[in-house]
Amino acid sequence: DPPQRLSKVLAAAGVASRRSSEELIFGGKVTVNGSVCNTPQTRVDPAKDIIYVNGNRLPKKQPPKVYLALNKPKGYICSSGDKESKSVLSLFDDYLKILDKRNSGVPKPRLFTVGRLDVATTGLIIVTNDGDFAQQISHPSANLSKEYIAVIDGDVNKRHLIAINDGTVIEGVHCTPDSVELLPRQPDIPRPRLRIVVHEGRKHEVRELVKNAGLEIHSLKRVRIGGFRLPSDLGEAH
Ligand code: URA
Repeated sequence: DPPQRLSKVLAAAGVASRRSSEELIFGGKVTVNGSVCNTPQTRVDPAKDIIYVNGNRLPKKQPPKVYLALNKPKGYICSSGDKESKSVLSLFDDYLKILDKRNSGVPKPRLFTVGRLDVATTGLIIVTNDGDFAQQISHPSANLSKEYIAVIDGDVNKRHLIAINDGTVIEGVHCTPDSVELLPRQPDIPRPRLRIVVHEGRKHEVRELVKNAGLEIHSLKRVRIGGFRLPSDLGEAH
């Protein structure tokens, strides 16, 4: 590996986010080869340079980059857990233990979700430890569309579809979906289903669009992000 910025090395080693790593460096908490280093852009080689953070030696090896697709179950939240709800990241505890055994001595990847789904929403969410990748795919310039299947309580008519298409105001911004479509009835699913594609990703966007049209959501599932579709054989995690 060629030398990298000290702040990036700390973030990649799972010490903290890039931003917090810079603060540790500015705060004089980091030494390189025996002297305090105050400049995050200093080039270091984690395999050769001896780096300490808060008095702890930084491991020479970096955690592997991982990119995981999760089929999120209901009842889990995408931020860190609290008393009421568990974090989706707790679903990776066993995976991390296995990885830890296999890569003994390598720090565990520090996982986070790319974007969020509501606690009641199920379906596709990407989990990674690669901050640059996460930033790239969630940046508006990536312009990724997200596809949802909304199961509706009650009947859906043409006026509802027009109202969803017309959009609604969320956080002061007028949001419209890329498309909305009533799916053919399936004999084993008694309720109507809508396929709704959005790309803005505002808070509760799909729920707000549906509610604003006078409809009630029974359940909501994300089935696609950009070109990546939730694999049909990937069951909900547990
Ligand atoms: N829109 C919503 O309303 N909820 C989600 O979880 C995702 C998109």
